[in-house]
Formats: sequence, structure tokens, C-alpha cells
Amino acid sequence: MALMLWYAISPWFGGTAATAGLLAAFVDYVGRLFTPVRELSGKISILQRAASAADKIAGLLLCDERVPFGDRPLPEAPGEVAFEGVSFAYGDGPDVLRDITLAIRPGEVVALVGRTGSGKTTIGKLLVRMYAGYRGTIRVDGVPLDEVDQAALRRRIAVVQQDVVLFGGTVRGDLTLGADISDARLREALDLAQASDVVERLGGLDGRVVQGGRNLSVGEAQLLSFARVLARDAPLVILDEATASVDSLTEARIQAATAALFAQRTVLVVAHRLSTITHADRIVLLDQGRILEQGTHQALLARGGAYAALFEAQFTHGDAVANGASAESGRAG
Ligand code: ATP
Ligand code: MG
Repeated sequence: MALMLWYAISPWFGGTAATAGLLAAFVDYVGRLFTPVRELSGKISILQRAASAADKIAGLLLCDERVPFGDRPLPEAPGEVAFEGVSFAYGDGPDVLRDITLAIRPGEVVALVGRTGSGKTTIGKLLVRMYAGYRGTIRVDGVPLDEVDQAALRRRIAVVQQDVVLFGGTVRGDLTLGADISDARLREALDLAQASDVVERLGGLDGRVVQGGRNLSVGEAQLLSFARVLARDAPLVILDEATASVDSLTEARIQAATAALFAQRTVLVVAHRLSTITHADRIVLLDQGRILEQGTHQALLARGGAYAALFEAQFTHGDAVANGASAESGRAG
């Protein structure tokens, strides 16, 4: 190799044989020339990714698909929900909810279970009116959802999402999201959510949360999102349990935080670990957008149908496998 190079570069130096020093310098300079070229190609692929992301952002900004709201306030009420014959499809796609009729009484804890893609998250999305265009009727405290004032609905329903969104800034800002909530109330909520020590580690309520919660573990971010909901007095809570696995200590904390929430509010919980919801007032099993079975845990087990099979499967394969979804499928849906 060195010999070849030696021959190759000799003519450039007036036909005289290159010295070892010259050869070394040449190899070094060639190396220096290619390093930036290689770096440049790396940067180009980053630029390409940025351009495609910018495209998507522009698409969203230009999208004028707004969900219409009404102007009716909600009555002073403890939080009650009714789905009456609701069917729904995303865009021109197939129906992902089919003829759902489901009433949730004030204070009741209703759990939605079913395999991945069965429509659990979609029910919550319709309830907070992220999407309109469903058939049938949805009522919150007796008022049809399409007539409800947007701000009133936001005050009535709090959501713990499957993927926790942390905006970054101070812990206080990320907990209140701009609402007027006292520090005392935040501390109380953090206690209930088992998240006080997480916040202490960040430096208290003035501590910093990195955008996207990157200085927190998945479990810690979940605990903060529980605190966020517990600090508000929305009587209705949608809890879409995260599918990401957390360590068993965090799991125990999340269970405790969930129990605190269940005790205080009307809750629609999307459960991935059936162990969370065995005490729910009612369990609703969805299958391809339809309600297949509903009842208490005991009643459904006694019935020996699809729920009993799901529960059985989860206990034989361990808690990580839920809803017929493999653990690796992670945050699908
Ligand atoms: P998981 O257990 O994985 O969270 P899920 O029961 O919550 O599942 P949904 O998220 O409600 O399922 O999805 C129901 C169906 O709707 C799925 O077939 C899914 O692919 C589809 N779907 C969900 N969100 C959208 C969307 N924004 N656009 C188009 N289709 C969607
Ligand atoms: Mg989901």
C-alpha cells in the first residue's frame, strides 16, 4: 500500500522519489481533506431530516381542520358521561368505533380494556373533542358535546395521556400549565402522586424540567402528569395508562397515585395492566371498536369469556404482556 502510494505520488514531485516524510505528510493531508467531506455528508443527512420535519410542521400549520365547539356552559355537576350509539372513523378510514353505548355515573371508575388498536384511546380522544365527525351522541353532564363551550370542557376533563407531554421550564409551570394553582395545592398533589422526591431532586417547584422531560425517567414523567391532574379540580379524568414498562418501585408508586385518583374523581381509565383495574366499578372490553363484554372483574371472570381469557393470558405470560400486544410494541396507538 505504502509502496503503491510512493510510486503514485513520485511524479508530482518532479519525478524524484518521495521521501518517507513526504509520504507521511501526504497521507496526513489527504486525511485532513476527507474528514470535513465526511462530516459534510453527515450534516446533509441531518438537513434532509430537518427539511422533512419542517414539511410536516408546515402541513400542520396550514391544516384548517378545526373541531367546532358550541357555547353552552356545563352545569355544576360531578362529572357524568354518556356515549349513545357512537361510531367513528379517522378521515376516510374504516370505522374504529362501532355503535358504542356507554354511560359513566358520577364518581364511577370505568376501565377500558382490549387488544392494541381496539379503540380505547379513541374513546378518550372523542370525549375531549380532539376529533368531531362521529355518529351518535356524546353527552357530558347531560349536554351534547358539540354544544359545549370549549373552555368549560377543558375545565371539566383532565387527561393523563399515554405519552406524557412535558413542556420544559420550571416544575411549577409544567404542573400548572398556566392555571392559577397555589404552591400548597401543588405540594399536596405531588404527595398524592408519590412525586415529591422527584421534584425535590429537580430543585423544588422552581427546579428545571428539560423540554420533553428528558431529565426524567418515563416513570417519573408519569408521576408528574398524575400530580398535574390531581392539582386541578376537574371532576372527570381520562387516564390512558402508559404502555412503557417501568421498574417495580415506580410501578408501585404509579399504582398508589392511580388509587388516589380513583378515590376522588369520575375516571375513564384505559388499562394496559389488568392488575391496575381489578377494583374498577366496571370493566368494558373492546374488540375492533365494539363493546364485547362489560361488568365487574369478578362478574367477567365468572362469565369465562374473552376478558377471563385475557386476564388468564396476562397472568401466565407476566404483566408486561397486555391486551394481546407484545411488550415490544411499546407505545403503539
Ligand atoms: P393501544 O392499546 O395500542 O393504545 P387503542 O385501543 O388505544 O390501542 P386506538 O389508538 O384507539 O387504539 O386506535 C384504534 C384504531 O384507530 C387503530 O386501528 C389505529 O390504527 C387507528 N388510529 C388511531 N389514531 C389514528 C389516527 N390519528 N389516524 C388514523 N387512524 C388512527
Ligand atoms: Mg391507546
